[in-house]
Amino acid sequence: MSASFSNKLIDWYRQNKRDLPWRKTKNPYKIWVSEIILQQTRIEFGTKYYNRFLEKYPDVKKLANSSDSDLMKIWEGLGYYSRAINMLKTAKIILNSYNGVFPSKYDQLILLPGIGDYTASAISSICNNELQPVVDGNVLRFLSRMHKIDLPIESIKTKKYFKKLGFRLIKDVNPGDFNQALMDYGSMICKPKKFDCKSCLFSIDCKAYNSNSVENYPTKKKKIKVKERYLNYVVVVTDDNKTQIKKRDGSGIWKNLYEFPLIETETQTSAKHISKELDLDFTDLLSVKRINHKLSHQLLHIAFFVFRANNKIDDLVDINSLINYPFPRPLNKFISELV
Ligand code: SF4
Repeated sequence: MSASFSNKLIDWYRQNKRDLPWRKTKNPYKIWVSEIILQQTRIEFGTKYYNRFLEKYPDVKKLANSSDSDLMKIWEGLGYYSRAINMLKTAKIILNSYNGVFPSKYDQLILLPGIGDYTASAISSICNNELQPVVDGNVLRFLSRMHKIDLPIESIKTKKYFKKLGFRLIKDVNPGDFNQALMDYGSMICKPKKFDCKSCLFSIDCKAYNSNSVENYPTKKKKIKVKERYLNYVVVVTDDNKTQIKKRDGSGIWKNLYEFPLIETETQTSAKHISKELDLDFTDLLSVKRINHKLSHQLLHIAFFVFRANNKIDDLVDINSLINYPFPRPLNKFISELV
């Protein structure tokens, strides 16, 4: 299985590929934007962001000159905000050190912030015809089933193993098409649960299918324990309809986004406790809203305690202007009900 597998896969791709905006270009900047947005994001959802992003930042120079806040506003709702922070860093490096010309060579790309082996391989294979195989979740699943490879897909060693296998498969074909074909086949046919083995072109050679063990692949490590956190936001509302917000810093979640003053507790807490903690009058409590929000390794129990307050508080902003600030997604939902 090498050249014939790869050619068959590319033939399938050319007949079945989805009509996506980034497939009409070989501009490395645009391919980079699409690859970063599509990490951890569904294609339908990511396409909207891709179009919006390029409307606002049609080239790397425009992006490099953007403010943090403007970029976060465009990114709002996509999650994994460190991706956007790294994009801004990368754009500045390209403007200052590469004369504003986005590189398309693997060796240059891999040195830039937020670009790892996967992204550098995708850009360099599509835009520079380099023989760099991509290894993402779709590729790992498809190839681990085809070959019954019992390695846990999260480990670096496993990725190296598949990269090596990819080098063998990509060597005689168009690398950009091969990489996209491999990923598309994994996401459209060899899907995580609804794998379509009956119409699969490779079922004769697929070791997992022929041993009736498709569901056992890919192999995963034991599940990581989800951490539960209790975030209590204190939302003050003044007589002239203002409230207090702060920018998050530090290295945790939602860096550089805005939020209301926060008290984090070990367990669920009451409005009485919050009012005591902040020396607020409990009778000024207007409402309490609780929601849960899931992140990959965290379950956030978020509470919003809304208090009437006087105007002597620092850093007040108009409640109607909150929509101009980048907030994390669960806070945005609450704000849309508040304004
Ligand atoms: S036969 Fe099934 S498991 Fe094997 S590659 Fe095809 S879709 Fe995937």
